[in-house]
Amino acid sequence: MIESNLHIKLYYNIILTFFLIGMFSVIGTQAQNIEVVAEKGDGIYRLLTRNGLSAAEYMDTFIQMNKERLGKENSLYAGRKYRLPGKTEEIAVSSGTRMVRHEIFGKEFENVNLIDDKLKGAVYYLVAGHGGPDPGAVGRYNNWQLCEDEYAYDVTLRLARNLIQHGALVYMITRDPNDGIRNDSYLKADKDEICYPDSRIPINQLRRLKQRTEAVNQIYSNHRGSFQRMIALHVDSRSHGENIDVFFYHDRQSKTGRKAAITLKNKFQQKYDLHQPGRGYSGTVSDRNLYVVRNSYPVAVYIELGNINHRRDQQRFIISSNRQALANWLFEGMVDDFKENK
Ligand SMILES: [Zn+2]
Repeated sequence: MIESNLHIKLYYNIILTFFLIGMFSVIGTQAQNIEVVAEKGDGIYRLLTRNGLSAAEYMDTFIQMNKERLGKENSLYAGRKYRLPGKTEEIAVSSGTRMVRHEIFGKEFENVNLIDDKLKGAVYYLVAGHGGPDPGAVGRYNNWQLCEDEYAYDVTLRLARNLIQHGALVYMITRDPNDGIRNDSYLKADKDEICYPDSRIPINQLRRLKQRTEAVNQIYSNHRGSFQRMIALHVDSRSHGENIDVFFYHDRQSKTGRKAAITLKNKFQQKYDLHQPGRGYSGTVSDRNLYVVRNSYPVAVYIELGNINHRRDQQRFIISSNRQALANWLFEGMVDDFKENK
């Protein structure tokens, strides 16, 4: 049974109950709401708003759901956990497969089978570069215009899906309401991307970067104590002659950021050695003064996936299985990062 999810919000906490009774297998589904801790001074309105929920829409449900946990006149106790409405997804269970549905992945990919829990406890903020009025770097390929924001977004979605399949909690910060994962070579550019939870993306660069960083930082405190990472995905543009490998950047101050970046880079090194021996891999890890990295509360890694103007690098983007491979390798690197640095 799949419930239509109007909120296309990508953070569901899922608990699955699977009963086997005697010779019959009784398949149970249960969705559990996500819980957040109230901070000092929080009222219901503030708690809901901070979590991207409209107070007008969810106030009554919230009170109902949390009846026993509320104080006088429906006040909140700081430090106490509250259940958030509208944050769950009905789970479809059939013959042992566990599924969740996320509309953001598009019709073809919205049903996500849950494979294991190896990333349980990890929280990721995925920020696809640019979007809205800003296409980012634009490359040419035959008669096509390749826009950075579309290709970065597609890889980001694929990465998000991988992470969810293994139990991570994922926030898609850049979001496109109608472009799911696409297998086309040419990803048509549009301007309707928004910033989590549903803000229009401004043209002004600094305001845009500030907006997405604040979106991340606002949720961060809800997961204090958890393993958290902000991952920004971009595609570089340089002169036509210059092919580049995948580059990883971290904040100069952040030792963990550097460690995480190195772990990811090593994964790419390993993969290239395996799949294209002799090719050589010259991707690097370095610190760089980038607004979103410097100002993000969670440990951040900023990744350039290639040069959108270079003929060979372009193959990395226009072939959808290559975009999937990028997402898979990033995912594997992130699993290592979780194991090593949590
Ligand atoms: Zn960019």
